[in-house]
Amino acid sequence: MNDCLFCKIVSGEIPCYKVYEDKHCLAFLDIRPLNPGHTLVIPKQHSKNILEIDEKTLQEIIIIVKRLSNKIKTVLQCDGINIMINNEPAAGQIVFHTHIHIIPRFKDDGLRQWEGNIQQTDGELKTTAKLINQ
Ligand code: AMP
Ligand code: ZN
Repeated sequence: MNDCLFCKIVSGEIPCYKVYEDKHCLAFLDIRPLNPGHTLVIPKQHSKNILEIDEKTLQEIIIIVKRLSNKIKTVLQCDGINIMINNEPAAGQIVFHTHIHIIPRFKDDGLRQWEGNIQQTDGELKTTAKLINQ
Protein backbone atom coordinates (compact mmCIF):
# COMPACT_ATOMS: atom_id res chain seq x y z
CA MET A 1 0.00 0.00 0.00
CA ASN A 2 1.88 3.01 -1.35
CA ASP A 3 0.65 5.88 0.74
CA CYS A 4 0.57 4.03 4.05
CA LEU A 5 2.81 5.75 6.61
CA PHE A 6 3.85 2.56 8.39
CA CYS A 7 4.50 0.72 5.11
CA LYS A 8 6.89 3.57 4.33
CA ILE A 9 8.60 3.02 7.68
CA VAL A 10 8.89 -0.71 6.85
CA SER A 11 10.47 0.07 3.46
CA GLY A 12 12.85 2.63 5.02
CA GLU A 13 11.37 5.52 3.06
CA ILE A 14 10.51 7.20 6.36
CA PRO A 15 12.91 6.86 9.31
CA CYS A 16 11.99 5.52 12.72
CA TYR A 17 13.55 4.86 16.12
CA LYS A 18 13.73 1.11 15.64
CA VAL A 19 13.75 -1.07 18.75
CA TYR A 20 13.21 -4.51 17.17
CA GLU A 21 13.03 -6.16 13.77
CA ASP A 22 12.60 -9.66 12.42
CA LYS A 23 11.28 -11.20 9.20
CA HIS A 24 7.63 -10.39 9.84
CA CYS A 25 7.65 -7.69 12.45
CA LEU A 26 9.02 -4.22 13.17
CA ALA A 27 8.87 -2.22 16.40
CA PHE A 28 9.75 1.43 16.82
CA LEU A 29 9.18 4.29 19.23
CA ASP A 30 6.00 6.30 18.93
CA ILE A 31 7.00 9.85 17.95
CA ARG A 32 4.40 11.29 20.31
CA PRO A 33 4.94 9.04 23.32
CA LEU A 34 2.52 8.88 26.23
CA ASN A 35 5.52 7.93 28.35
CA PRO A 36 9.19 7.26 27.55
CA GLY A 37 9.51 3.91 25.79
CA HIS A 38 6.05 4.06 24.17
CA THR A 39 6.54 1.54 21.37
CA LEU A 40 4.53 0.50 18.32
CA VAL A 41 4.74 -3.09 17.13
CA ILE A 42 3.64 -3.65 13.53
CA PRO A 43 3.51 -6.48 11.03
CA LYS A 44 5.63 -5.76 7.96
CA GLN A 45 2.80 -6.95 5.76
CA HIS A 46 0.11 -4.33 5.42
CA SER A 47 -3.28 -4.85 7.03
CA LYS A 48 -5.67 -2.15 8.17
CA ASN A 49 -6.18 -3.24 11.76
CA ILE A 50 -6.93 -6.13 14.06
CA LEU A 51 -10.31 -6.67 12.40
CA GLU A 52 -8.60 -7.54 9.13
CA ILE A 53 -5.16 -8.94 9.97
CA ASP A 54 -4.65 -12.61 9.25
CA GLU A 55 -4.44 -14.73 12.39
CA LYS A 56 -1.00 -16.18 11.74
CA THR A 57 0.52 -12.72 11.41
CA LEU A 58 -1.27 -11.62 14.56
CA GLN A 59 0.19 -14.58 16.45
CA GLU A 60 3.67 -13.62 15.29
CA ILE A 61 3.41 -10.02 16.40
CA ILE A 62 1.66 -10.60 19.73
CA ILE A 63 4.54 -12.81 20.85
CA ILE A 64 6.92 -9.95 20.08
CA VAL A 65 4.64 -7.60 22.04
CA LYS A 66 5.01 -9.85 25.08
CA ARG A 67 8.78 -10.14 24.77
CA LEU A 68 9.30 -6.43 24.16
CA SER A 69 7.01 -5.55 27.06
CA ASN A 70 9.21 -7.53 29.40
CA LYS A 71 12.35 -5.98 27.93
CA ILE A 72 10.94 -2.46 28.23
CA LYS A 73 9.79 -3.06 31.80
CA THR A 74 13.25 -4.27 32.74
CA VAL A 75 15.33 -1.58 31.05
CA LEU A 76 13.05 1.38 31.75
CA GLN A 77 12.04 0.11 35.17
CA CYS A 78 8.42 1.01 34.69
CA ASP A 79 5.78 -0.25 37.10
CA GLY A 80 3.33 -1.55 34.51
CA ILE A 81 2.51 -1.76 30.82
CA ASN A 82 -0.64 -0.99 28.86
CA ILE A 83 -1.12 -2.85 25.60
CA MET A 84 -3.50 -0.96 23.36
CA ILE A 85 -4.92 -1.43 19.88
CA ASN A 86 -7.15 1.19 18.30
CA ASN A 87 -9.39 -0.12 15.54
CA GLU A 88 -11.31 2.24 13.27
CA PRO A 89 -11.69 6.01 13.70
CA ALA A 90 -14.41 5.73 16.35
CA ALA A 91 -11.88 3.90 18.51
CA GLY A 92 -9.14 6.46 17.92
CA GLN A 93 -7.27 4.80 15.07
CA ILE A 94 -5.43 7.42 13.02
CA VAL A 95 -2.84 5.28 11.23
CA PHE A 96 -4.48 2.52 9.20
CA HIS A 97 -1.76 -0.10 9.33
CA THR A 98 -2.15 -2.58 12.19
CA HIS A 99 -0.12 -1.53 15.21
CA ILE A 100 -0.02 -2.50 18.84
CA HIS A 101 0.91 0.15 21.38
CA ILE A 102 3.17 -0.84 24.27
CA ILE A 103 2.80 1.94 26.82
CA PRO A 104 5.09 1.90 29.84
CA ARG A 105 3.29 3.04 32.99
CA PHE A 106 4.76 4.54 36.09
CA LYS A 107 3.04 4.78 39.44
CA ASP A 108 1.28 8.15 39.59
CA ASP A 109 2.27 9.07 36.01
CA GLY A 110 -0.99 10.96 35.68
CA LEU A 111 -2.20 9.15 32.57
CA ARG A 112 -5.89 8.53 32.84
CA GLN A 113 -7.63 5.55 31.35
CA TRP A 114 -11.31 5.13 30.58
CA GLU A 115 -13.14 7.50 32.81
CA GLY A 116 -16.70 6.90 31.81
CA ASN A 117 -18.69 3.73 32.08
CA ILE A 118 -22.28 2.92 31.45
CA GLN A 119 -24.68 1.13 33.74
CA GLN A 120 -26.46 -1.84 32.19
CA THR A 121 -29.30 -3.79 33.71
CA ASP A 122 -29.15 -7.53 34.16
CA GLY A 123 -31.49 -7.85 31.16
CA GLU A 124 -29.32 -5.67 28.95
CA LEU A 125 -26.17 -7.57 29.90
CA LYS A 126 -27.93 -10.88 29.14
CA THR A 127 -29.12 -9.60 25.75
CA THR A 128 -25.65 -8.32 24.84
CA ALA A 129 -23.99 -11.58 25.91
CA LYS A 130 -26.52 -13.58 23.88
CA LEU A 131 -25.90 -11.45 20.79
CA ILE A 132 -22.14 -11.93 20.96
CA ASN A 133 -22.39 -15.57 21.88
CA GLN A 134 -24.71 -16.65 19.04
P1 AMP B 1 -3.43 5.19 16.57
O1 AMP B 1 -4.30 6.25 17.19
O2 AMP B 1 -3.49 3.89 17.33
O3 AMP B 1 -3.70 5.01 15.09
O4 AMP B 1 -1.97 5.71 16.80
C1 AMP B 1 -1.04 6.01 15.82
C2 AMP B 1 0.22 6.37 16.52
O5 AMP B 1 1.24 6.50 15.56
C3 AMP B 1 0.16 7.69 17.32
O6 AMP B 1 0.43 7.41 18.69
C4 AMP B 1 1.25 8.53 16.68
O7 AMP B 1 1.97 9.31 17.60
C5 AMP B 1 2.13 7.48 16.03
N1 AMP B 1 2.89 7.94 14.87
C6 AMP B 1 2.44 8.66 13.83
N2 AMP B 1 3.41 8.87 12.94
C7 AMP B 1 4.51 8.23 13.43
C8 AMP B 1 5.86 8.09 12.96
N3 AMP B 1 6.27 8.61 11.80
N4 AMP B 1 6.73 7.39 13.72
C9 AMP B 1 6.32 6.85 14.90
N5 AMP B 1 5.06 6.96 15.39
C10 AMP B 1 4.18 7.65 14.66
ZN1 ZN C 1 0.74 -0.20 5.62
